[in-house]
Amino acid sequence: MKPQALDILHRVFGYASFRGEQAAIVEHLDRGGDCLVLMPTGGGKSLCYQVPALLREGTAIVVSPLIALMQDQVDALIQLGVAAAFLNSSQSPQVQREVEQRLLRRELKLLYVAPERLLGERTLELLERVPVSLFAIDEAHCVSQWGHDFRPEYRGLNLLHQRFPQVPRIALTATADAPTRAEIVERLGLEDARQFVASFDRPNIRYRVVQKNNARRQLKEFLESHRDESGIVYCLSRKKVDETAAALVEDGFTAMPYHAGMEQAARAANQQRFLREDGVVMVATIAFGMGIDKPDVRFVAHMDLPKSMEGYYQETGRGGRDGLPAEAWLCYGLGDVVTMSQMIAQSESGQERKRVERAKLEALLGYAEATGCRRQLLLRYFGEERGDACGNCDNCLEPPRTWDATEVAQKALSAVYRTGQRFGVGHLVAVLRGEENDKLRSWNHHTLSVFGIGKDLDARQWSGVFRHLVAAGYLAADHEGYGALHLTETSRGVLKGEVRIFMRHEAAGEERRAERKAA
Ligand code: ADP
Ligand code: ZN
Repeated sequence: MKPQALDILHRVFGYASFRGEQAAIVEHLDRGGDCLVLMPTGGGKSLCYQVPALLREGTAIVVSPLIALMQDQVDALIQLGVAAAFLNSSQSPQVQREVEQRLLRRELKLLYVAPERLLGERTLELLERVPVSLFAIDEAHCVSQWGHDFRPEYRGLNLLHQRFPQVPRIALTATADAPTRAEIVERLGLEDARQFVASFDRPNIRYRVVQKNNARRQLKEFLESHRDESGIVYCLSRKKVDETAAALVEDGFTAMPYHAGMEQAARAANQQRFLREDGVVMVATIAFGMGIDKPDVRFVAHMDLPKSMEGYYQETGRGGRDGLPAEAWLCYGLGDVVTMSQMIAQSESGQERKRVERAKLEALLGYAEATGCRRQLLLRYFGEERGDACGNCDNCLEPPRTWDATEVAQKALSAVYRTGQRFGVGHLVAVLRGEENDKLRSWNHHTLSVFGIGKDLDARQWSGVFRHLVAAGYLAADHEGYGALHLTETSRGVLKGEVRIFMRHEAAGEERRAERKAA
C-alpha cells in the first residue's frame, strides 16, 4: 500500500485504518485496474473511489442515479476540503456552465454526474479535453433488468470503456444476487475486472420466521420479549401501520406510526423521537429507514412479506448496527403470498418485469418456508456460500421436525383439480374436511370423490399445507383477487408420486419453546 493512501485516509477523512477490502480496492484501482465491488450498505463503498480519486492525477467521474444523494455527498466532500462538484438537471444552466469551467481548469478532483447527463455528447467531449482519473459507477445494479431498480440510461455506460479505454473503472453496488452480478459484468464490459465481494453476513442478527395465525397477538408476544427496547415494525399498507401503532399503544407500548401519507411535520417529529428516545417502537411502511442510522435498534419485525430478499436484507439490516444482538422477525401466512402475487399481477409493469418480480417473491418464499439454516440461504442469495449452519436463526436453534406430506399434498391438489381450479383455500378445506355448507351444496361438491378425504387434519393444518404448496410453486393463486388456486406445471409430478414433499411440523417451534419455558 502506498503511504500516500494512508496519509489521505488520515489527513482528509480522519480515519485510522481501512476497513475490510477497502485497502485492496484502493490499491487495485490506483494501479489502473477495473473493479466490481459488492459491499452491504454502510460497508464503506465511497472511500473505495474517493481515496484513489485523490491519489491519481485528474478528475474522477462518479456516476450516480440519485440527484438528492449527489448533493449530500458533494457537500460532505467539500466540508473535508476536497474539490468536488456535481452536474445534473436540477441546476440552472448558469451553474452548470460554471462547473464545466472548473472541470476544464482542472480544479476538480471529483465530479458527480447523472448517467443521462454524462452520456450526452457535450459532456463526453468535455471529458476528452481533461485528464480523467477514474470512472466510478455507483448503484451499478441499476444496469440490470434483473435488479430491482433498473434504469435504462445505465445501459449506455459501456460506452465509457469504448471512448476512454485507458481510464480505470470501478462499479459498486450493495445489492446483487448472482444473475444481477453477471448482468453487471456483461453490460458494463467488466469481464476483466477484479471482483471484491465483502461478506453480507450480519452475525449478530438472529433470524426468525413464524407462521401467521393471529398476527396481532403474535406481534405482542414478540414485543414482550423486547420490552423497553427500540425497534421497527414494518407493515405493507399505511392503514395497517396506523392500526398496528394504535393497537400497540393500547397495549402499553411506546409506539408511533410512520408512512408517506402522514403530514411532513408529524413524520419528522416521530422520526426524531425514535432517534433520540430509548424504547420506542416505530411502526412504518418501507418509506421509513433510508438513511436512518440508529445503532441500537434491537429488533425489526415484518407483519407482511417484504418484496424481495434484497428488501428483506436491507430492512432487517437496520437492526444491530452497534454489533450487539438484534432480532429479525417475520410473521407470514398464506394470505401474504396471495396478496403479493396479486400485487405483481395487477401492477403496471411489463411481462418481463413481472417475471422478475415473481422470481424474487419465490426466492423469498423459499426463505420463509426453509427448514435449514436461514442465514445460509440469505447469504447464498447474495452469492456467498457459507459452509456451516449459523447457530443463530430459529431453524438452527430449534430444528424443525418434518414429516412426509406427499399423500396429503396429493389430496390437496386433487381437491383443487376436482373443483375446477377456481376456489380459494376456505372452500377447498371445507371440501377436504367434508364440511357441508350452502356454497358447497350449490356447487354439488359434496358428491365429489375428494369430499371428506382429509378429516384427519384440522383446518389450520390444511391451511399450512396449502401455504407450503403455493410457496413451493405446486399451486398458484389466480390474479383476479379472489385467491382461487390452480395447478401448475410441477403439480403433475406430485400427483403421480414422482416427487416427495416434506413439510415442517407447524407447531414444532412453539411447542418446544413452551417445553423449555416449563422446564
Ligand atoms: P456505503 O456507501 O457502502 O453504504 P459509506 O461509504 O456511506 O457506505 O460508509 C458508511 C459509513 O462508514 C460512513 O459513515 C463512513 O464514514 C464510514 N466509514 C467508511 N470507511 C471507513 C473506515 N475505513 N473507517 C471508519 N469509518 C469508515
Ligand atoms: Zn442458522
